[in-house]
Amino acid sequence: MPTSAYFGINTFGARQMRDKLPKDVYAKLAASVRHGKKLDVDVAPTVAQVIKEWAISRGVTHFTHWFQPQTGLTAEKHDAFLSFDDNRQPMESFTGAQLIQSEPDASSFPSGGLRATWEARGYTAWNPASPVFIVESGNTRTLCIPSVFIGYNGEALDEMTPLLRSSDVLSAKAIALLELLGDKGVQRVYTTLGAEQEYFLIDRGHFALRPDLVMAGRSLVGAPPPRGQQLEDHYFGGIPERIQACISEVEHELYKLGVPIVTRHNEVAPSQFEMAPQFEETDIAVDHNQMVMATLRKVALRHNLQAVLHEKPFAGINGSGKHCNWSLSIAADNGELDGTNLLKPGKTPHQNLRFLVFLAAILKGVHRHAGLLRAGIASSGNEHRLGANEAPPAIISVFMGSMLTKVIEAIAAGKTSANASQAMIKLGVARLPEIEKDNTDRNRTSPFAFTGNKFEFRAVGSSASIAFPIVLLNAAVAEALDEITEAIKANTKRGKSMDDVVLGVVREAFKESASIRFEGNNYSEEWVKEAAKRGLLNLRRSPEALDQLLTKQSRSLLTSLGIFTKAELESRFHVRLERYSKDMLIEMHTMKEIVDTLILPAAFSYSGALSTSAAHAVSAGVKNVPQVDAANEIGGMITTLRERRDELEKTIEKAEGMHHEPAKQAKLLTTAGADSMAAVREASDALELKVADELWPLPKYREMLFPV
Ligand code: ADP
Ligand code: MG
Repeated sequence: MPTSAYFGINTFGARQMRDKLPKDVYAKLAASVRHGKKLDVDVAPTVAQVIKEWAISRGVTHFTHWFQPQTGLTAEKHDAFLSFDDNRQPMESFTGAQLIQSEPDASSFPSGGLRATWEARGYTAWNPASPVFIVESGNTRTLCIPSVFIGYNGEALDEMTPLLRSSDVLSAKAIALLELLGDKGVQRVYTTLGAEQEYFLIDRGHFALRPDLVMAGRSLVGAPPPRGQQLEDHYFGGIPERIQACISEVEHELYKLGVPIVTRHNEVAPSQFEMAPQFEETDIAVDHNQMVMATLRKVALRHNLQAVLHEKPFAGINGSGKHCNWSLSIAADNGELDGTNLLKPGKTPHQNLRFLVFLAAILKGVHRHAGLLRAGIASSGNEHRLGANEAPPAIISVFMGSMLTKVIEAIAAGKTSANASQAMIKLGVARLPEIEKDNTDRNRTSPFAFTGNKFEFRAVGSSASIAFPIVLLNAAVAEALDEITEAIKANTKRGKSMDDVVLGVVREAFKESASIRFEGNNYSEEWVKEAAKRGLLNLRRSPEALDQLLTKQSRSLLTSLGIFTKAELESRFHVRLERYSKDMLIEMHTMKEIVDTLILPAAFSYSGALSTSAAHAVSAGVKNVPQVDAANEIGGMITTLRERRDELEKTIEKAEGMHHEPAKQAKLLTTAGADSMAAVREASDALELKVADELWPLPKYREMLFPV
């Protein structure tokens, strides 16, 4: 069946509603979708009725508000359509109130201290901008209603609420600037997002035998195999048949849900793959990425595979990221997303000046809030990617490509007083060539790269919800747009052309943000030194990165734009920090258990086998029995492992004793905690390369990563 024949059949969005709803009801719904306003209560029953009929015709029995608490995952609680009429006869019912609002028990979701103020009461509210959809699980079909999750006083408890707020602010600031530049009557500026998802697929049987993968999502021990990715034979190679069957089924499920996956390929590491959608409006793309992750996990199991989404599941092997391709786009007149991409060079000098203003705003925002952007991607998983041996690095910098770098530097070096239209011709800006993707000498080491008509935020972790990093990016850019607007207004004088003023302001922004631009190899040692000279932050550890959420500058940015209240921002910090410490402690406990119950017993068996064999050899009269040396060597390695394991245990106890001081605890975990795990791993991996293969209790890297 061609994909188009079933694409989106399990969704019910604006288009279907337009066909089914009375005109006036649809108009109200559409207005609330377009302007992000809460749906009118009096139209809700009609909308609910239409949705119910559709859902029941598709075999749905239950509905749920589907929301994104700060767990990185989605949450749902199912309610049946079933109810009883006055004669106690069963019937299907779904009211407007049920569509719009629901009250899950909120006390079990992370709130980072906000709980005290909202007394564990919270509710979910339908976000009509995102289509409702049906999730199929075996024979069960459930209607999912994308929702925000808020406390009773309106506190954001989820990922989506701040995202919607940031989209609104950014749109408003962009529109104000566009008005000033002469683009009147713009209704909405969208940010667009296409998230490339990297992941591993490994055999479920192997996965199940690895307590570390099951508990922590990554291998805590495991000697890298002699052949990893150095042959560069996996990237874009043929997809193995078993994997292909799984990926195709994932895509099939996602198509039914209206998720426009358009590319699939092998990634750099063995057993690593990527799928990427056609970009969409950001708020929808964020929901869709959650569906991508959930569907990957679910469908892989049907194929006896496990989708591993962790940022660094296998040491010494490439990690996984989620490249967030992001741009700004003027909505078309009908409010839909097929308008003008503001990050695409245009055909006229005016369009190109506009293009440069938006570039300038992004550079300015990323430059000022680089630390905050780093905080947005801080997690225990991403810590193994950022600033570790492989990259991208923990230093946020922006790659612009050689053509634009020349333009930016020429503008920055020029005199503010130059006549803008002449200057633009001289600089070649009046008519910029279309920037072909392959023309931008693409720099794959950059954490934030311009790729022709969008930026690619590459440092985002593969398992993360992309909402938070994008909220922070939206905020940084919104502020910069606002400042640029104000500067243009302040510099406008009679007799001075608008273009002159704008170019002058752009020049200042390019100058002030110069240090954030970097075209070289971000993985190199020299860059670390150079970045330090430039005064750029290099926040390698999550706790220090998270501190950036609470700097005066970050607080003022996020509260003044109305994206977070002071209390909400602090709660985000606490949720993230707590999560970091929990992840670390889970890993440490799991590691201790693996050493005690798997590695040491295997090593003892092997050493026992060597001793027995030595004793036999000696009693048989063999001279120079080599098993004795081998047993001594293993004995020494066991002693080392046991010492390091004891050190790990001590660190766990110390950290757990600090649970009432979360910042101190996280600091200990990120230093002594991480060090003690590294030390145990080293000793365990050394044993793995010595102990008889038949005795080794865990699937090895070569078995997990080279299944075919
Ligand atoms: P790659 O980075 O692998 O070369 P592409 O550049 O073709 O791949 O696209 C990567 C992702 O960027 C895709 O999901 C695509 O839809 C998305 N993308 C393209 N244009 C935009 C845009 N204007 N805004 C947001 N995302 C975009
Ligand atoms: Mg890419």
